[in-house]
Order: sequence, then structure tokens, then C-alpha cells
Amino acid sequence: MKYNSVRGTKDIYSPEIELWQYLEKTAIELLQNYGFSEIRTPIFEELALFNRTIGEDTDIVEKEMYTFNDKKGRSLTLRPEGTAGVVRAAIEKNLLVQGGLTKLYYQGPMFRYERPQAGRYRQFYQIGAESIGSDSYWRDIEIIVLCVEFFSRLGLAGLKVYINSVGCAECRPSYRSVLQNFLLENSAPLCADCQRRMARNPLRVLDCKVETCRQVITRIPAIQDYLCQSCRDNFQNIQQTLQKENIAFIADKFLVRGLDYYTRVVFEIKSESLGAQDAVAAGGRYDKLVKELGGPEMSAVGFALGVERVVEVLKKQKAGGWPETSGDVYFALLGQQAQQEAFTLIRDLRQSGLKVEACLENKSLKSQMRQADQYKAKFTVIIGEDELKKGIAVVRDMLTKEQKEIKLNDLVSILKELKLK
Ligand code: ATP
Ligand code: MG
Repeated sequence: MKYNSVRGTKDIYSPEIELWQYLEKTAIELLQNYGFSEIRTPIFEELALFNRTIGEDTDIVEKEMYTFNDKKGRSLTLRPEGTAGVVRAAIEKNLLVQGGLTKLYYQGPMFRYERPQAGRYRQFYQIGAESIGSDSYWRDIEIIVLCVEFFSRLGLAGLKVYINSVGCAECRPSYRSVLQNFLLENSAPLCADCQRRMARNPLRVLDCKVETCRQVITRIPAIQDYLCQSCRDNFQNIQQTLQKENIAFIADKFLVRGLDYYTRVVFEIKSESLGAQDAVAAGGRYDKLVKELGGPEMSAVGFALGVERVVEVLKKQKAGGWPETSGDVYFALLGQQAQQEAFTLIRDLRQSGLKVEACLENKSLKSQMRQADQYKAKFTVIIGEDELKKGIAVVRDMLTKEQKEIKLNDLVSILKELKLK
């Protein structure tokens, strides 16, 4: 009986996995440069946590969550995003200090029951970060700049930053009613979901991807005209600073996020190299969430990037090239005694940081040389009975095809030296 991976999931292996590792290493270094420390939270949480934070009328909560009962009847959900769990943990473990700033990053799989297609999976990976405890707009800028720097460290081009302000508790209600009235007057082309959202959470309509809805959305009154003075100043400051920092952006009055907890600035980064699923990273400010989850009144801002989509861009642009996957030394061994002698040397070389592989399966020299090629070894060491008798090994430079006899006693130090050159 053979089994297949579940629809919407994928296995990730070489050579693609090397791109993942390169991306992850780049991201983690960058996040640490910016003062974020890692937090790992569980993959499942109580259902209520996500209902409460993401919002009842959002796509995620309405139809995308993997929710199940465990054997004791607890209602649990595989996390569809990272922020809720991180904030839950930060409150529970007292990581938040009044008047202080807590900067946390996370990475790992998220789960959403969506229709699988290019760039959209049911298990997908995110890397994200949260700055909790500051309402300074510099923290919003810091997050946007960090994202932009991430793509530039990867050497990727063709990325665009879209920003908007979704207002605050003070000004959003008045925009909400303006929007609601507009939608009521223009409701005919709206999809069934939007008909419902229109009454319960009209801002959600702005995020709808259905074509007939998109046509209505292009005519809606812009939120900018309804922002309170403080949100207006805030958005102005952010735009001016981004300009000063030479970060190109597009102010997009229709941009809202698929989650309810955002306030003030929201942003999305899109890639020109991708098709319909072109958003590679997204984030924004959430000033009410910490209190909502029983923590102190604290403002926060964060982002998450979609790893699969960034990997796709890397593949398309091959910027920086595919990471090296070659090995350093391959041992072709003939006979049990050669295997025994070599094994100690191999341990030594591996310990000193070299990438070493060997054939320990009694194969012909020809097939072992083929394996050395597949391993992309820089050097192949050949040891058979004759070599053992003479106390030597044959070392073949796989690029120049040059072969040298080297004393077994000197082998480790010489290979280390050759590798260093
Ligand atoms: P989209 O509009 O594409 O559905 P979203 O608004 O639901 O995105 P967020 O919740 O903001 O996405 O997640 C941040 C990032 O995670 C997205 O920009 C995207 O790169 C990635 N992402 C979201 N959902 C998926 C998915 N099902 N498969 C792969 N990547 C995803
Ligand atoms: Mg989505």
C-alpha cells in the first residue's frame, strides 16, 4: 500500500530545501540584527483564541480553520497564523513589561483550509515578528524597512510595498457606516459572502477577491478621507519617513488585512514574479489585541512573510544563484579493511567541519566513482587493498582529474589544507 501526501501539503527536499535554509538563515540573521528574539509556540491552540483575535467574520475564522476535538472534547485549532499565539504566550509568560518593548520573532507551519493552487497551500510556512509595547510610528517603519531589507539581502527585485491606514477605534466607526451605506446602495453585484459581510463587518468586503466585488470596491469612498487627525498625522509621518529612507511604496486606499485586529498602518509586499498569489509578506499595527487577550494596554506592530512564495521568487529570479550543495570529500573504499581504516579518518574530517561522504556498501570502483560525481565531491579518496599495503591513499581532484598518492598518516591534514585553499 502506497500513501500520498494530503492535498494542499508538500514535501520539501533537495535541491529546493537548500533555498529554504538559505532564506531562513538570511531571515534569522536579519531579525537578530533588528533586536528580535525567537519564540516557539505550539502548533495548536484553543479555538477561542483565534475566534477572538482574528475575528468572527473573517475568511480565516469562517471557513479556513482546522478545528478538532481532542479525546477530552477540548476544541483545538491548528494555528492559521502566528500573532495570536505569540501574544497569548507573551501575556501568559509575563514577557511584556509596562513601558518596555518586547520584540519576538517566530517561524513555522501555519494551517488554513483553502483551495490549493500555486502559492496557496493548506500547510504553509511563515516567518514573522512582533514589536509589542510601543505606539511610536518608528516601530511601524522599522518593520517595513526590515521586510524591504530582507528581500534586498536575498538579492530579489521587483517587489512593491503597498501601505494604507485602517484608522483607529475613534475614526473607524464613522468610516464603517459610510462604507456600509455605500455597499447597501451597490449591493447587487456583491457575492453571497459579501452580502453577509456588508451587514456584520463591511471592511471585510474590501479584501474580497471575487471579480464582481472587486469592481464595486474600486468605487468605494476612500478611508483616508475619514481618518481622525491623529491617524492622519500618523499616516503622513510614516509616508514622509519612508520617502526619506528611500523606501518606494504605493499608498493603496483599498488595502485592508484579512484579520480584524489591525489598527492604523497596514502593509503588504507583492512580487511581480508571481501570478495571482503575489503577496509575499504582510503586516501592520494592532493596538487593541494585547488588551483583548487579557494583557496590559499595549500597542504593537508586526508582519509575517510566506516562505513558499518567497522561495518561488528565488527560483524564478535565481538571484544569488542556487546555494552550493556540493560535498568536500568522497571516500571510495574497496574491502572491509579499507572501510575500517577510512572510517576513523572520515570521523576526523567531519569533526573538523568538512562535508564528507563514503561508500560503505561494497560496490565496484566504477559505481563508487559515479556516486562521488553525484555527491559533487571536490576530492575523491580511493583506498583499496594495494593502497593499504603501501600505507597510502589515492586522492583525485575531481575538477582537474589529477591524482596523487598521499600517505594515510598525512591524509587528514592534507585534505584539510586542500579544502582551505
Ligand atoms: P492572501 O491574500 O494571499 O490570502 P492573507 O492576507 O490571507 O494572504 P496573511 O494572513 O497576511 O495572508 O499571511 C501573510 C503571508 O503568508 C501572505 O502574504 C502569504 O505570503 C502567506 N500565505 C497566506 N496564506 C497562505 C497559503 N494558504 N499558502 C501559502 N502562503 C500563504
Ligand atoms: Mg488568505
